[in-house]
Amino acid sequence: MWPFGHPVVAPLLPPRRYPRPAVPTAITISKLVKQYAPGSAPAVDGVDLAIGPGDLFFLLGPSGCGKTTLLRMIAGFIEPTAGSIAFTLADGRQRDVTFLPPNQRNTGMVFQSYALWPHMTVAQNVAFGLEIRKVSKDELDRRVLEALRTVQMDHLAQRKPNALSGGQQQRVALARALVIRPDVLLLDEPLSNLDAKLRNELRSEIRRICKDSGITTVYVTHDQKEALSMADQVAIMSAGRLVQLGPPADLYRRPASKFVAEFLGETNFLPGQVIDSGHGRTKIRTAAGELLSAHPVPASAAGGSVLVSLRPEALIPVPDGAASLRGRVIESQYLGEIAQQIVELKPIAGAAPTSPAQSPRLKLSLLNPAPDMATAGHDIALAVRPEDVVLIPA
Ligand code: ATP
Repeated sequence: MWPFGHPVVAPLLPPRRYPRPAVPTAITISKLVKQYAPGSAPAVDGVDLAIGPGDLFFLLGPSGCGKTTLLRMIAGFIEPTAGSIAFTLADGRQRDVTFLPPNQRNTGMVFQSYALWPHMTVAQNVAFGLEIRKVSKDELDRRVLEALRTVQMDHLAQRKPNALSGGQQQRVALARALVIRPDVLLLDEPLSNLDAKLRNELRSEIRRICKDSGITTVYVTHDQKEALSMADQVAIMSAGRLVQLGPPADLYRRPASKFVAEFLGETNFLPGQVIDSGHGRTKIRTAAGELLSAHPVPASAAGGSVLVSLRPEALIPVPDGAASLRGRVIESQYLGEIAQQIVELKPIAGAAPTSPAQSPRLKLSLLNPAPDMATAGHDIALAVRPEDVVLIPA
């Protein structure tokens, strides 16, 4: 029995587009600090952030970097030690919410652990937030159904949470957050309790729901793939600070620091020295040869010393005459669509190897490798496009 007046007859209708806010909320965070105890290192340390209306905004960083603390300050569960948080609402008014109780912020929250009430049905779980807002019965029924259709769970409205899979429970938790039509949706590692296959499926599903709903969303994760595949904007945090902000492809292709380059996927570092720069091009000398970069020398590169970051997939096998780097494949792991290899580079004449014990080594990812290329023991010549030669302060 549908608990809200009329039976649900239609199983699994196509997902419903959620009603969009006329103007989504923007979030302005200024000089935000959270220190849990006097004298301790701040968990959030002077964060300034502007989150655009309707953005799917990710806070990404390793465990303990402060992303949950920041999210919980936006939700109102944690009071900041200093700084401010403001929501710019549809009418253009800026509302300072820094010390406002959570129930007065109109935010919807989804937790890693789902946090559904086990004694209530799916529909009752979703309806709860509307009941305490004293929404009329007709409107409540309509909105619960609408939210459940959005997450494609209307056919299971009468189930109890313990009769649902983890992925289904998380869909219900999302419907429960959406049903109140929040100004801001907050998601705290919502996929981390799910297995890899389900995580992949739900990534695109959650992105679709967030973008269709138009609600400004802040999403916390430590999983780079999740952030790269879903986000409009990603803020990378380390030790309570914001270290880089931008769209996923910019962060991946143009990391500004060693930390970001390493945290977002795999990379190779080669120490280098600038030998020429101008007209947007930089020539670098490394122990393994000269490389041309399409990027300027980083402003903070002292004395022309830089670290060159080369992604494994940016290295392209070429005929010897076209190569910038030459070496020998010393390890190869064939994985079907790619082969992951280690290449020991031949040092150029007169250059000291990076480590006295060995020549520089690079990780290489070969897409669709031919059988003779997918083994170790042969010489290889590699080129890299100047755009993929990323320069980082040494
Ligand atoms: P994770 O991915 O592991 O959840 P996180 O990036 O979300 O990590 P936070 O949970 O925000 O990080 O924690 C940031 C820092 O603040 C950590 O050093 C943590 O130990 C500390 N911390 C978090 N909550 C408290 C608390 N209630 N009291 C004291 N210290 C805390």
